[in-house]
Amino acid sequence: MMKELLGTSNRILEVDLNESKVDIYQVKPEERRLYLGGKGLGLKLLYDRLKPGTDPLGEENILVFMPGVFMGTGAPCSGRFAALTKSPLTGILVASSCGGSFGMNLKTAGWDGLLVRGKAARPSYLLITLEGVEFRDAAEIWGLDTVETQVKLDEKRAGMLVIGPAGENLVRFANIASGDRFLGRGGMGAVMGSKNLKAIVALGGAYKITPLDQPAFDRLKKKAAAYINRNRFTGNLFRKYGTPANVRPCLKANILPVNNFSDGSHAEALKISGEETQKNHKTSHHTCKPCTILCGKKGTFGGEELPSPEYETVTLLGSNLGVFDMGRIAEWNRICGRMGMDTISAGGTLAWVMEAAEKGLVRSDLKFGSPEGISQALLDIAYRKGFGGEMAQGSKALSETYGGTSFAMHVKGLEIAGYDPRGSFGLGLAYAVANRGGCHLSAYLVAQEVVLGLLRPHAVRGKADHVRFLESLNNCVNSLQTCLFTLFAYLLEPPLTKYTPAPLLRFLMQEMPQVAIPLIDYTLYRDLWSAVTGIKISRRDFLEAGDRITVLERYMNTREGISRVHDTLPDRFLREGRKSDPKAYTVPIEKLRSTYYKKRGYDRNGIPTPTTLKRLGIAVSSAAAPIL
Ligand code: SF4
Repeated sequence: MMKELLGTSNRILEVDLNESKVDIYQVKPEERRLYLGGKGLGLKLLYDRLKPGTDPLGEENILVFMPGVFMGTGAPCSGRFAALTKSPLTGILVASSCGGSFGMNLKTAGWDGLLVRGKAARPSYLLITLEGVEFRDAAEIWGLDTVETQVKLDEKRAGMLVIGPAGENLVRFANIASGDRFLGRGGMGAVMGSKNLKAIVALGGAYKITPLDQPAFDRLKKKAAAYINRNRFTGNLFRKYGTPANVRPCLKANILPVNNFSDGSHAEALKISGEETQKNHKTSHHTCKPCTILCGKKGTFGGEELPSPEYETVTLLGSNLGVFDMGRIAEWNRICGRMGMDTISAGGTLAWVMEAAEKGLVRSDLKFGSPEGISQALLDIAYRKGFGGEMAQGSKALSETYGGTSFAMHVKGLEIAGYDPRGSFGLGLAYAVANRGGCHLSAYLVAQEVVLGLLRPHAVRGKADHVRFLESLNNCVNSLQTCLFTLFAYLLEPPLTKYTPAPLLRFLMQEMPQVAIPLIDYTLYRDLWSAVTGIKISRRDFLEAGDRITVLERYMNTREGISRVHDTLPDRFLREGRKSDPKAYTVPIEKLRSTYYKKRGYDRNGIPTPTTLKRLGIAVSSAAAPIL
């Protein structure tokens, strides 16, 4: 018989692997109100515990896993959880979101979060239940890939986090798998590996999660589902074709990465589109649970049923390597999945190697347009074999060793995602200032600039306002924690946006962002959060929580040495036009960045000012409280 849990348990498990010790932290009401949950609350817990200068692969680094506030309530697209740590790839904070079943199991075991620090004396895994944590020996599973590990550990109703050989071998962009969903970016798998932690198994099902205001929640959930179902992206394009539905608009806008971002389009590019993949590989739904949008897909590749690669993978392991063969891309996706490696960073690193080899900086047989040698290179990275050991450090480290920094396509060490900002200046700013590095998800301006046509892609005006707004709202969404794709439905379907004539909407968004942004209706997120937690909060305070999360993360990064010089883009985007662009656009980062700093309340070096920190209630302290 399941017990009932009203809203959130507010109980966080704190595990110290050094001493096999467990403590429980009780979340304070003020922390919940100011940081919402998920990513935001996880960040606050990290801020209170992680000392600046901590070695990402050292015992003192902390891994934080936070199920979303909506988890278990049945809200649309709520099967997601957040993870945070200090990244071994970038040396700064990294946060990731995942739709695997671990989050649901952790939450329904009665835990609102899990913090892990220290290092186990030998390969270990954790079993988490209603009662707490068991420390178990992982000798038998050390060395197995992510699929084998999960098969071996399978327990009824369990949700898992596991690393593959890449995590064990401290590949700087190793990820963590939960089912075949991943905490992809920034090398969290290596942090787990450095702690001798092969897996975490959560055994849920002890609690039924009930929103505090069930009638309001039911009404809002119905509205949310209706918005999703009638929106043309969430109810149609993504549902039918998955995220590779983006290939077509990105190709048209000339922002598809081709051959290490030397171009934005290619004659064969439609072969990797969602539409072609559905036709040729008979894709069907394979999603996070629960999900209403259903963007995740599986398909038949080379006679085998495999997860169908997402947009970032078809671009970074496909077009950006000059390869347009979905069978090959699915195979490389499978290798990365089993080894436990981020496909974006793996692809970005291979693209750098191809170009560096062309220019005679390194010796490698890898070539743009040729699939030969890529499978082996990925395995070499995972096992750090030969040159694979150097590739395992990522494109920034490689370029600093061999030269070629101008075409190492990363920001702050994180390889950038599959959109060329020379055709989307707002995204260029978002990449440059994103807290985790070259991230497309901190403020996905591609939607407004390319997909929806609400902003002129090459305009500078208004972009800082939109980046600031979206960063904050996305941090709210990642704290609730629901899928970012709901933004298409929840922002576009409310009457004010839906029925404003398109030319007027475009004019306001582009020319008068100070008027347009406050009119954007994001109340559905706020109302759902209030219905689950029972906490009333104004629209303004809700968005300010997103502001607070963004600025706190920035502040923590500045304590690691991040400032203006790091908020930039690879030289290629600043000085070279795309081959097929007659206007040879480059990103005017200087102007964009200076305006953004002013809007954010940072000084000219990109450091949050004392006034900004005070306004958001962020206590300035370099001291870190002990974890236990
Ligand atoms: S829309 Fe896609 S990424 Fe989002 S929750 Fe659903 S399956 Fe997962």
